[in-house]
Amino acid sequence: MSEPDARRPLANPGHPAAGGFGDDEPPSRPRRHPVWEHVPDAQWDDWRWQTQNSIRSVRQLRTLLRFSPEELEAIGRLEGDYKLAIPPYYFSLIDPDDPADPIRLQSVPSPLEAENPSGYELDDPLEEDKDSPVPGLTHRYPDRALLITTPNCSMYCRYCTRKRATLTRGGWEGVSADDERMIGYVRAHPEIRDVIVSGGDPLTLPIGKLRFYLESLKEIDHVDVIRVGTRVPVTLPQRLYDNELVDLLASAEKVYIQTHFNHPREVTPEAARVCKALLRGGMPINNHSVLLRGVNDDLATMRELLRGLLRIKVRPYYIFHCDPVTGAGHFRTSVWKGLEIMEGLRGHTSGIGIPTYVVDSPHGGGKIPMMPNYLVSMSDDAVVLRNYEGLLIRYQAEDKPGTIDGTATRGVSGLLQGDKTVLVPHDNERMARRKPRVVRDGCGGDGAADGGRPILPLPMLNGTGNGHAANG
Ligand SMILES: *Cc1c(COP(=O)(O)O)cnc(C)c1O
Ligand code: SF4
Repeated sequence: MSEPDARRPLANPGHPAAGGFGDDEPPSRPRRHPVWEHVPDAQWDDWRWQTQNSIRSVRQLRTLLRFSPEELEAIGRLEGDYKLAIPPYYFSLIDPDDPADPIRLQSVPSPLEAENPSGYELDDPLEEDKDSPVPGLTHRYPDRALLITTPNCSMYCRYCTRKRATLTRGGWEGVSADDERMIGYVRAHPEIRDVIVSGGDPLTLPIGKLRFYLESLKEIDHVDVIRVGTRVPVTLPQRLYDNELVDLLASAEKVYIQTHFNHPREVTPEAARVCKALLRGGMPINNHSVLLRGVNDDLATMRELLRGLLRIKVRPYYIFHCDPVTGAGHFRTSVWKGLEIMEGLRGHTSGIGIPTYVVDSPHGGGKIPMMPNYLVSMSDDAVVLRNYEGLLIRYQAEDKPGTIDGTATRGVSGLLQGDKTVLVPHDNERMARRKPRVVRDGCGGDGAADGGRPILPLPMLNGTGNGHAANG
């Protein structure tokens, strides 16, 4: 093969989502840590090589990244608490000069894991084990079940909510009685329509065992959907260069892929390639991200991630608030941070790129969606809604005679009383873009509710003194 620089072009040179380290980075930088620069491409592209050469000890880490002596000592002490594995491919996404690098934070142990800042962190924060009728299966929601099929992952995320499961060793044997029991439970429960094959990461399973799960579930008539939850497209895409694996997934027919990108830099040409292969195989790909301090807890990063996902046709599905799992307290943000991000998405960017932000609640309460407030006030006749621009809008949901008493009043109350239909912030660009025009009854599109009154571009509307200007 030719030189690696030419062979590994960035999909979108200069764009960090394409795998560079930033805008000032030349697009030709090979995404390999220098220690692997001379590995032949055929090996680099082989998932077995990637797995065999994964970083699995602090002793290896210290030769590849800089640590302070205190840090090394602290993470050395943590080594037995949680598994460590980072494939060279994923490791190479780390900027070795940045101690706060977002890929590093996700994969490299930190001394902060020894802390339990709130005292509230738990080994099983979602109480999955309590909603487990047979070992490894969680039946929480009425029509879906989650199967923990393996304790193994290609990379162990430091904030993983299922550390208690991934901590188990083994998982490489053949089909066990536990596996049979999980399938038996699904078979015996016709209300289960959607089965999440999770772990660990099921794409680390020996292919025979994965085939057992997929073929068994495919044959159960009442199962409509098999969701394969995997981070392999992100952390070890080479695994999916293997057509046998892609074909096996496709042949189960009911498969949706549920993957887990957290940062725009993870959206590489390698990830794009395997997502394309999965999509070609007829498998929709949904993504969930975990909101992580220092990784993606700002609007710009999140927007870039969502945009990168749309480019490779991965549908953003959820943003999870980080669960209170032991050793991950330093990753947790406020809920306000998540709401701030959601506020910056809805209306501002493609709706198909907007995930639902959810808190997975204690006591096994499941996922609870969190949204900024769009419902501002309400009366018998109308609700007052606000849009992403801060427009406050009277919306009459039902066609019924009004009971407005005509009390002259201002602000939101004025909207409820029917004095006005909208309050517009004085710097609204969209209104400023409009030309003065007259809207006729019912046919004027967005001005129709005003019934033939002139809609003026904003500069001609002077404020009412409360920071809003009213039309009508
Ligand atoms: C998240 C989850 C599901 C799937 O939930 P959806 O909202 O349908 O994606 C099912 N079971 C468990 C235990 C889960 O945590
Ligand atoms: S891939 Fe999933 S199960 Fe595995 S460590 Fe990461 S979050 Fe946990």
